[in-house]
Amino acid sequence: MAQEAHGAFYDLLAVRGVSRRDFLKYCSYVAATLGLAETAAPQIAAALEKGTKLKPALWLNGGSCTGCTESMAQVDSPDVATIVLELLSLNYFETIMAAAGEQAEKNIEDTIADGGYLLIYEGAVMMGEDGNTLLVNGEKGTDILQHAAEGADAILAVGACAVDGGWVYAHPNPAGAVGVQSFLDGVKVKTPVVNLPCCPTSPEWVVAMVVQWLLVADDDPALFLEKTALLAKEYHDNYRDADVSLLYPEYIVGSTIHDNCPRRGHFENGEFVTEFGSEEEAKGYCLYKVGCKGPQTYTQCPVTRWNRSVSWCVNSGAPCIGCGGLNWVDNNAPFFKRLSSMQMGGSLGNVQPGSVAAVVGGVAAAALVAHGLGMKAAGRIGDGPPMEEMKAYDRKHGAKKGGDK
Ligand code: SF4
Ligand code: SF4
Repeated sequence: MAQEAHGAFYDLLAVRGVSRRDFLKYCSYVAATLGLAETAAPQIAAALEKGTKLKPALWLNGGSCTGCTESMAQVDSPDVATIVLELLSLNYFETIMAAAGEQAEKNIEDTIADGGYLLIYEGAVMMGEDGNTLLVNGEKGTDILQHAAEGADAILAVGACAVDGGWVYAHPNPAGAVGVQSFLDGVKVKTPVVNLPCCPTSPEWVVAMVVQWLLVADDDPALFLEKTALLAKEYHDNYRDADVSLLYPEYIVGSTIHDNCPRRGHFENGEFVTEFGSEEEAKGYCLYKVGCKGPQTYTQCPVTRWNRSVSWCVNSGAPCIGCGGLNWVDNNAPFFKRLSSMQMGGSLGNVQPGSVAAVVGGVAAAALVAHGLGMKAAGRIGDGPPMEEMKAYDRKHGAKKGGDK
């Protein structure tokens, strides 16, 4: 029987033009994303080979642009990631499912009744007007989420909106948008939530977590959290006046964009772009002075990249706008201006400049200046523009406070 399943899986790969070598390489990548040693790749491969039995999942949308779905769609077939997703039985996926009307709603109810499913949630939870800011088939989106979350074995909150409300949460937030964990804490639903950051999130990260789910779903779904190397981030949710603890895969948020940025050498040399369309931009210099939030944003974008690992924001010449951070719009706008409250390295615990900007901001900016001066003293700064040309902006506007425009 196992042999048959094995054969069926490799038939599936062959039909899609995927070699066994490509498959094993992908399993190594998944192992890394899950925070496992590369030696775990063969076990992952073996588990997926057996996994021809479909596992149920629901993909629900809250207040979203469906960009995360679109990002998933860029995992174009034939492709190992697509095959992995085919191991899920996505019984409801509003944006792309064939079912409509009553049949679609019945799919949700049937899946919930059977239990043992993974809930994937995209978009913000819209709590404004007592939940009436988002109605699906006449039902409040908040009620649908609560109902589906209560019966799920685990939840993936995909994209910044699902993590903490994303840009929908930005001031003045008339729709009362919050993230999934914040909402579930409020209604006392304890189902584990794993958060996948960025706007949109990376399809590769979603696939890695789905693989993790497939690996444990048959044995003990409770192992999902235990087997996923996680980091906790504190989120100070102004809307609900509550502190929320969010769980993220460690591999994804364990280091900053700046740590892995290919332009880092230019930063160290004091070689900066100060104007778009300039000679410095053409040379691929560091984008810090035109607003790059890479030093304070904890995600693996430079490593994973987007669109089948072709590129990512900084690689394409755009400063990182920090969409992997919490309350990222309020905290990071204006996107093309350097913030005075930037943090360099340090703890994951506080990415809310509002509460610490007055103190930390000056220190962080000073640290950068000192860093630049140190480089200069050491003779490592080239002929790039002066370090603090944009300081006047900070003097004029002061430290920004999240949500306080
Ligand atoms: S996280 Fe970004 S891409 Fe994803 S649904 Fe929200 S706005 Fe769209
Ligand atoms: S500031 Fe931005 S562009 Fe410059 S090295 Fe850091 S992440 Fe890269």
